[in-house]
Amino acid sequence: MQNHALDILQNTFGFHAFRAPQDQIVDTVVNGDDALVIMPTGGGKSLCYQIPALVRPGTGVVISPLIALMHDQVASLQQLGIRAAYLNSSLDPGTAAAVEAQLRAGQLDLLYIAPERLIQARTQGLLGACKVALFAIDEAHCVSQWGHDFRSDYLSLDLLPRQFPGIPRIALTATADERTRQEIIERLHLQTGRQFCCGFDRPNIQYRITQKNNARQQLLRFIHNEHPRDAGIVYCLSRRKVEATAEWLQGQGYTALAYHAGLGADQRRRHQERFLREEGVIIVATVAFGMGIDKPDVRFVAHLDLPKSIEAYYQETGRAGRDGEPATAWMVYGIQDVVKLRQMLETSQGSEQHKRVERHKLDAMLGLCEITSCRRQALLHYFGEETPDACGNCDTCLTPVQTWDGTVAAQKALSCAYRTGQRFGVNHLIDVLVGKETDKVRQFSHQQLSTYGVGADLDTGQWRSVYRQLVARGYLTVDMGGFGSLRLTERCRVVLRGEENLALRRDPTEQKVRKQRGSS
Ligand code: ADP
Ligand code: ZN
Repeated sequence: MQNHALDILQNTFGFHAFRAPQDQIVDTVVNGDDALVIMPTGGGKSLCYQIPALVRPGTGVVISPLIALMHDQVASLQQLGIRAAYLNSSLDPGTAAAVEAQLRAGQLDLLYIAPERLIQARTQGLLGACKVALFAIDEAHCVSQWGHDFRSDYLSLDLLPRQFPGIPRIALTATADERTRQEIIERLHLQTGRQFCCGFDRPNIQYRITQKNNARQQLLRFIHNEHPRDAGIVYCLSRRKVEATAEWLQGQGYTALAYHAGLGADQRRRHQERFLREEGVIIVATVAFGMGIDKPDVRFVAHLDLPKSIEAYYQETGRAGRDGEPATAWMVYGIQDVVKLRQMLETSQGSEQHKRVERHKLDAMLGLCEITSCRRQALLHYFGEETPDACGNCDTCLTPVQTWDGTVAAQKALSCAYRTGQRFGVNHLIDVLVGKETDKVRQFSHQQLSTYGVGADLDTGQWRSVYRQLVARGYLTVDMGGFGSLRLTERCRVVLRGEENLALRRDPTEQKVRKQRGSS
């Protein structure tokens, strides 16, 4: 059996070997047993059901709530010569009927289906009349009422073992906390199945996050000092910045290639090929890059802009060091990143509930940036994995963060936002605080405010740090109006009244981190 699976892995998917524990999972399902798979995003969950579906006779039925992705998933399977199709509410009746006919005729290897469709009696009748190879329940945490992805349709999936006894079921998720796991097992009746839980930790990756302060120069120093001849990925938010950064790195003597969805397919493929085949190529990319790339010796992943969630950060940084050798996940971020991401989020399509979840995720990402304790511990904690000790291989471990009593500074920063009417962005607020008489200051007569010049004891960089931390901790929010103005939240009252002391992070200089690294 296993030989057949390996054969499919190599000849259909074009991969060399299974990643542990994919082979064990495939074996389990091929043998007809149930399985629960907990694996980080990007870990390779899809093959765990796709290959058994091809090995076993009949059609593999994949239940997924991600209707928007089904089309792409199916298209890329079809490109590999796999007979795949999907059924969801986006299909017109004619197309749906054609898919059903294929299914009945036994002409499908894989069928993706939305949960609300699967639980219709009609669909069950349809499936009952065909040979089903297995059921894969993707995003299985949607069955948990604790998580924010709960889908009531998932609760009805307990009908599968009753209606289709003897057909193996494999549930997959990237959510690792114990409570969710137990809930999945109970609600989906997976008590007799095998569990596969891959740790989320990537011990060979060193995590570092610093404040932005001339990002290009910071990036150059980082590459020059630590990875001068290595392959790496530099992520930027916009296509324009991708191109400008790639060009600039070329000017500095590096082989840097741009990659984003706006480039022609041909050029994208060429750049990807060079990254895979040549040594020491740097890819400068938007998040469009990385799907399906499995280059083991990427030595660094650098972020010039803040990812929109911890999940995205983990997935993108996870492309470094797949070979297990030391690698660096390096990032610079600033308050403008937060402003930009918030604005993108607010102006995006999508329901209010969706936006709420996205805001929550961005806040968690900011929290990771601003913590003073071990980053790895926080990252793993986010995915539900508890580790007793600090890692010793992240910037906050290597250079313990100093804090300072920022209570008075915070009061000044907050009242400056208040007195200027909560209508201005961070740059103007800082000008007012340090007493810089710009045109804008004069235009609004802000030199007459009581907060004008009261912040001359700190420099611009320090004030940026104060504002960044106030936003990260929820004392200020970025206004959705579109200009990035800062507004006070309910929470900041205790600070303004002097009832709460604020210990702020003193931004360590990069130099220090490097020295520590060199001497360790
Ligand atoms: P997940 O669903 O866990 O987020 P995917 O199934 O999308 O992850 O896989 C992530 C990436 O890893 C994909 O690009 C996939 O092609 C690749 N991949 C998975 N398994 C292997 C393997 N054994 N060898 C090489 N690449 C793999
Ligand atoms: Zn650490």
